[in-house]
Amino acid sequence: MRIFDAHCDILWRLWEDRYISFHDGPGVQVTYKNLMKYPGSIQCMAIYVPEEVPASRKYEVALEMVDIFYEKIVKPYENVKVILAKGDVQALKDNEIGVMLTLEGCDAIGNDLTRLRTLYRLGVRSVGLTWNYANTVADGVLEERGAGLTNFGRNFIKELNHLRVWTDVSHLSLNGFWEVMDRASYPIASHSNSYHLCPHPRNLTDEQIQALIQKNGLIGINFYPLFLTGGEATIADILMHIERMCALGGEFHIGFGSDFDGIDNTPIGLESYQKYEDLVNELMKHYSAEQVENFRFNNFVKKII
Ligand SMILES: [Zn+2]
Repeated sequence: MRIFDAHCDILWRLWEDRYISFHDGPGVQVTYKNLMKYPGSIQCMAIYVPEEVPASRKYEVALEMVDIFYEKIVKPYENVKVILAKGDVQALKDNEIGVMLTLEGCDAIGNDLTRLRTLYRLGVRSVGLTWNYANTVADGVLEERGAGLTNFGRNFIKELNHLRVWTDVSHLSLNGFWEVMDRASYPIASHSNSYHLCPHPRNLTDEQIQALIQKNGLIGINFYPLFLTGGEATIADILMHIERMCALGGEFHIGFGSDFDGIDNTPIGLESYQKYEDLVNELMKHYSAEQVENFRFNNFVKKII
């Protein structure tokens, strides 16, 4: 059973504490062992530079996380393959794991497109414009000013289109979102839920969900209880968000963006990556095998360029 997961923060965890084991670390949600329970899967791994890192060091830290990706996740395992393009997906064997490098927030880029192109050449294939606050590209969802894209941000999206990289709107301000819808060729929301079901600013309104669908975009359902219910959550709550997005026409545009290793609590019954099976079993009770396969893998994978 193959899974595509559009967002996790394992690189940040390995950067924060170099003694944590990716192989089978206790308390680590996305480990090699957990991934290998579902061989053939593809996991996106985000470069997230924490807010407290001084601006002058952010790019260096982003590069440190790229190094961790190759040294601790790719190099030690013969069967872990970097996904850069459609061909890598087609070549991925049943006993292999695909890993895709993504960027969460462009603070590390400053106002230098050279850095974006360098990260692209190092393997980054999806770029979240902001985390929660403002940067040189746009305002994040918790920046009270709520502005959209900067002039640099507009050029930045042109470059993402040119490189054929996904533009990720998770964490982006509302104004930024609508500007991205006008400009991005490959928009996604890697880890966001339905605002209608859980009114948190990190979630997407029905209008936003419909706009992403219309732009042939993708939405990864986030497992963080705060974004599912605002309180405690179960697997059934994830299904509610899936159902809402399907009702808006999203059947071929949704998948998972668990946020594993970036979240301090999880839905009951979905404590780590290895529990994916239980989510899929629950989905099988409500959807056809083909629909479930689309949610768990095909919808996102089909749009890898
Ligand atoms: Zn995030």
